[in-house]
Amino acid sequence: MRILLTNDDGIGSPGLWAVAEELVKVGDLVVAAPGEERSGAGTSISLRKPIWVQEVPSKVDGAQAYAVSGTPADSAIIAISCLFPGEFDLVVSGVNRGSNLGHDVYVSGTVGAAMQGFLHNIPSIAVSMYAYVDIDYRTAAQTAALIASHIESGALEGPMLLNVNVPNLAPNQIHGVEVTRISRKNYCDRIEKDYDASGEYYVITRNEELEDAAPGTDLWAVENGRVSLTPLPDQVVSDRFFNQLNRIVPELEAALRTAVV
Ligand code: MN
Repeated sequence: MRILLTNDDGIGSPGLWAVAEELVKVGDLVVAAPGEERSGAGTSISLRKPIWVQEVPSKVDGAQAYAVSGTPADSAIIAISCLFPGEFDLVVSGVNRGSNLGHDVYVSGTVGAAMQGFLHNIPSIAVSMYAYVDIDYRTAAQTAALIASHIESGALEGPMLLNVNVPNLAPNQIHGVEVTRISRKNYCDRIEKDYDASGEYYVITRNEELEDAAPGTDLWAVENGRVSLTPLPDQVVSDRFFNQLNRIVPELEAALRTAVV
């Protein structure tokens, strides 16, 4: 299978190359990601603006890599429509530094890039870490590769936009794998006002407000040391896909417990 790997943390981010190491074992891997970090870009695309693509050295053997001057969604669109038209069987976005839980999915560049794969009828997965520092990417990388294998075997079939969030634990330390729905985890915007020589400006940062960690949600899963698999968007992905995912969960848990890393 041919796999497109993208992200929103940028072509140099460690999470991207950690999952590249595993995906290159599953299929022909193409990496196309923003040249700079574009976290929070959501699904935005650079309409009517030039987008430059530069082939760059791959950090894993056997993959091709491209830095794209636009957004995460631009990167996915250019790769899908121009670099390898009609050739991708899977789009993976991540592994993101920081989680994309609950309402994050509506602003996340990681999910926004995967969304482009989904809109082009390619099975697509967004993968994010429930951690910002001292990140162990191995469980996320292994999980993405295992899901890719299940897509290749036909155990999982599209349409598919799967949002994966992973606790910061080694593969053999996770407490399980859970098929979830998005929580109502929300943010409050914190806006700071400052001045410089050109005048007044605003900076938007975000404070987490953990609203709802009900069992069965993505937030509950990662807070309890479990890998969260959330099919998005709920109204498009049917119960059939929920059932497919639940069927592979025991196998994922067993494979992660015994993963060679
Ligand atoms: Mn990011």
